[in-house]
Amino acid sequence: MKKELLLLIELQKIDNQFREVEISKGTLPQELERLQAEERDLTVMREQSQVRLKELGLDLRKREKRHDEFKLKVGDLQKRLFSTQTNQEYEAVTREIEFHQDALLENEQAMQTGMEQQQELEQRLEESAERATKLADSLERMRGQYAEHNQSSAARIQDLDGRRAELCESIPRPLLSHYDRIRKAKDGRGVVAVYRNSSCGGCYQALPPQKINKVRMMDDLVLCEICGRILITDTLDTKL
Ligand SMILES: [Zn+2]
Repeated sequence: MKKELLLLIELQKIDNQFREVEISKGTLPQELERLQAEERDLTVMREQSQVRLKELGLDLRKREKRHDEFKLKVGDLQKRLFSTQTNQEYEAVTREIEFHQDALLENEQAMQTGMEQQQELEQRLEESAERATKLADSLERMRGQYAEHNQSSAARIQDLDGRRAELCESIPRPLLSHYDRIRKAKDGRGVVAVYRNSSCGGCYQALPPQKINKVRMMDDLVLCEICGRILITDTLDTKL
């Protein structure tokens, strides 16, 4: 078992280096993801605002035309009012004037609302344009950093991949599977050394002395009963 345990230690060291590469990326990937999502939302909002602005513009032009038509109509009716012959005719024209004046008022109110919405949208577009520019600048900078980082870590990852594959060929499959399962489930460490002569270096649960002795002999595979990690002796000059 000693040989296999020593191979596992080497494997753990390689996996630790993989983790270092991951960690060195820092929060850049998440930050990049967050900014990309913000950019997507902002683009959708700006596109929708532009569509709405166009609709409002068309609607306002129609209403302006209607406004002029109603004005003309009211003017004509007022002229007609003076030439009416009967009371009945006078009242009918008056009613028609009132009808058109109400329509005129309603149309003016709708125009007012439309113009307010236009202003609001224009302001929103102006404000978000500034944010969109800043966002694009940040994203470009961050993508550059990310690419640079990926380039330098790609060579390292390739080297680690090669070494790991080679090592794995010499480790019995069931042992490798156990190691990988624990490593993935427990903060990346599948193999841990005895800690301070007394406990598991992974979960810090105290270990009975006879178990520690067994670990130090390296004849058998010894697992921590609490966390399941593979225990190795602390007497080797190895840092995990
Ligand atoms: Zn443990």
